[in-house]
Amino acid sequence: MKKFNEVDRHIWSDGVLIPWHEATVHVLSHSLQRGSLVFDYMSIKQTPLGEAIFRMDAHLRRLFRSCRLMGLALERDESELAEAILETVRANPGARVVKISVLIPSVEIDVVPRDSRVSVSIAAYDPVADILDRLPGEPVAKPDVLRLHLERHKRQRREDIVSPEAKVSANYVSSMMAKSKALEAGFHEILLMDAEGFIAEGPTANIFIVTSDGFLRTPPEQRVLRGVTRASVIALAEEMKIPCFEESISPDELFAAEEAFMTGTSASILPVESVDGYKMGTDCPGSVTVALRERLIKIERGEDPAFESWLTYVKEAPA
Ligand code: PMP
Repeated sequence: MKKFNEVDRHIWSDGVLIPWHEATVHVLSHSLQRGSLVFDYMSIKQTPLGEAIFRMDAHLRRLFRSCRLMGLALERDESELAEAILETVRANPGARVVKISVLIPSVEIDVVPRDSRVSVSIAAYDPVADILDRLPGEPVAKPDVLRLHLERHKRQRREDIVSPEAKVSANYVSSMMAKSKALEAGFHEILLMDAEGFIAEGPTANIFIVTSDGFLRTPPEQRVLRGVTRASVIALAEEMKIPCFEESISPDELFAAEEAFMTGTSASILPVESVDGYKMGTDCPGSVTVALRERLIKIERGEDPAFESWLTYVKEAPA
C-alpha cells in the first residue's frame, strides 16, 4: 500500500499552493468534529483543445449555495475561486478531478463555533492513482450497470433541519451506514427515500426513470442535492425533445419503470439493471439512457458545439 502523504501534488490552501501532505487540519477542528465542511467536486475532461473543467460555473454556484444554507461565511467571490481552480489544475498535471472544500479549522467546544472564519482548499488529483490505489484491501470494480437497493428507512424530519440541498460532510453519514449494509448484501448502490416515502437520490448520485410512455422523471430539486449532471440531463432532454418532469416518484413507480439511471460527476449516466433483485424494463441499458449518455459524452469530449459553454478550458484556447 502506498502512503497518502507521498503523493506528489500541490493543494491550494487559502491562496498558496502547498505540498499535498501539508494540507491538514487539527483533530479537534469544528469541521471534523461537527461535520460542517462544505465541498464540491468537478471533473476535468480531455478535449481536442486540451483539458477542460465540466460545468465549473454551476459547481461554484452550488458551492456558494451550500455555504449560504449552512451559514458559512465564504468571503471570496466566484471569479476568484474560478481562477484559483484553474491555477491548481495547471499545477497538477494529469489530474482528473477537482475537489474544493470550505471548512472551519478552529478548535472549538460548542456546536456553534466562536471563531467561524473559514478556510478554503482546492485539490486537483487522479482519484485512482492518488487515492484508490493507496487504500488497503481489494479494489472494487466499477460496474457498468447498477444492482440497486431501495433503502426504505425514511429520512427523518430531525435530520432534515440540514437541507439535502447543502453539500455538507454531515449529510453523508446516513448513506455511509445504509450503503455499507447494501454492499455486503451484494448490491452496488442504494437509493434513499425522502420523509414522505418518495424516492430521493443515491449517496452521491441523482436518479431518473423512463416511464413506459417514454417520459423522463426525476424527484423535485427541493428533496435532493441539485446535481449538476441532473441539470445537464434535464437540459439535454429538452434539446432532444424527450418530455422530462421533476416530480415525486413513488417506489411502485420506480419498480414499474421501463428504464432507470443514476447521474453524478463520478457516475456520469449509469444504467440501473435491477432494484432489490427486480429487473428494470426489457433492455439494460435502455434506448433513452443510451441516447442521453452518448450525447453527454460527446459534450464532455468537446465535440458538441451546442453545449460548448459547459466547458472551461484550463489553458487559454488558441485564437
Ligand atoms: N446527490 C448527492 C447527495 C451527491 O453527493 C451528488 C454528487 N455531488 C449528486 C447527487 C450528483 O451531483 P453531481 O451531478 O453534481 O455530481
